[in-house]
Amino acid sequence: MSVRRDFDVLIAGAGMVGAALAARLATGERTRELRVALVEPAPVLAPLPGEPLDLRVSALSRAGECLLRDVGAWPAVRARGACAYERMLIWDAAGRVDGADTLAFDAAELGEPDLGHIVENRAVAAALLERALDRGVTLIRERATGLEPGADVATLALGERRLRAGLVVAADGADSPLRALAGLAGEVSRYPAEAVVAHLHPERPHGHAARQRFLPDGPLGMLPLADGRLSIVWSTTPAEAERLVGLEPEAFAAAVTEASDGVLGALETASPCARFPLRRFHAAGYTATRFALLGDAAHTVHPLAGQGVNQGFLDVLALAAEIETAVAAGEDPGDARALGRYARARRTGNALMGAALDALYRGFTDPRESVRRARRAGLGIVNAAAPLKRLLVARALGAP
Ligand SMILES: Cc1cc2nc3c(=O)[nH]c(=O)nc-3n(C[C@H](O)[C@H](O)[C@H](O)COP(=O)(O)OP(=O)(O)OC[C@H]3O[C@@H](n4cnc5c(N)ncnc54)[C@H](O)[C@@H]3O)c2cc1C
Repeated sequence: MSVRRDFDVLIAGAGMVGAALAARLATGERTRELRVALVEPAPVLAPLPGEPLDLRVSALSRAGECLLRDVGAWPAVRARGACAYERMLIWDAAGRVDGADTLAFDAAELGEPDLGHIVENRAVAAALLERALDRGVTLIRERATGLEPGADVATLALGERRLRAGLVVAADGADSPLRALAGLAGEVSRYPAEAVVAHLHPERPHGHAARQRFLPDGPLGMLPLADGRLSIVWSTTPAEAERLVGLEPEAFAAAVTEASDGVLGALETASPCARFPLRRFHAAGYTATRFALLGDAAHTVHPLAGQGVNQGFLDVLALAAEIETAVAAGEDPGDARALGRYARARRTGNALMGAALDALYRGFTDPRESVRRARRAGLGIVNAAAPLKRLLVARALGAP
């Protein structure tokens, strides 16, 4: 006798990634009939018109943009001032931004309209959630507290309440409680670094370029915002991060101006600042019986190349495609073969990305003079190698 199911797919976590899967399933030709629910204790609300831009923004790849377009969430994200960036400049603190060792990507030279967009995280999550709810997804404003896998159904506990589904997906973020319950915990390594984020007014126009200067303690990323400001992500030691966020606005702006080598003139503080711990994690496995991990719950990377949520969106596309295939073949969305194909499609790429970003971080913070010289030369060599640059851009645009 088959066990009653409350939903076909239950997604725990309506951050950018969980909401994207819900919207994708709700709009997919073969999956729109599935009964899908999002379980989220703190759903993100759409920002009100005129509300200041939130501190958390992301560099969204072309693949991510296409996903948002396909599910109908892009207009709302665009309306919150998504900023296309057309150039990317990466240089070492020992050199200069206009030096021969600077790695420069130019969308026009590469035949692309842009290299991506800087978008507000909460606008993305809220737009995706809205699309999902419009298309019939159920929102359950509770916290998932337990998981019982089973051959016929997976059961998600929300306190005393129990919900049964054909598939439970954990998109509950880097600290994923469900991951541990499913026995998929992996090893977390903490970087000896924190990211300081803030928005600043530059003296000179940012020219729709994303910039990254590698300092001895970590990179300072400067992302262009549509209103002319910069969003910075400055990875530095925890002690320095604590000092920076404790500074008066003028002193903070002076510190960032100096760290940026004055590349856009004097900077002026235009928001509060905040700091985030940085870690690297890759789950021991992505799936268990009628269970899958998605986004930061499966992998967390250093933000230096702005890849975290973009990897999560590629997970969404892969899992939604496997669910579609399973449904089209008359199988269950939690079919073990479909989940196996999803894990195979994403695990290696995500592992390689995590390792590459880790190597970049370590290479650029290595204080040895020989390593410093080698990395500057390396940037120059990559800059001169057109095919390699095209490959790097393809990855940055979101090729899996
Ligand atoms: C400083 C910084 C800069 C970054 N910049 C970029 C960038 O430029 N580009 C990029 O691609 N990535 C970037 N990232 C990474 C990106 O922010 C993350 O990859 C992304 O937010 C992960 O989204 P998610 O939906 O997987 O998880 P989260 O955003 O963490 O969402 C998880 C959701 O699950 C909910 N939840 C938690 N527990 C439960 C539970 N028990 N039951 C139900 N729901 C639960 C939470 O309330 C939350 O809403 C950056 C990260 C940092 C720290």
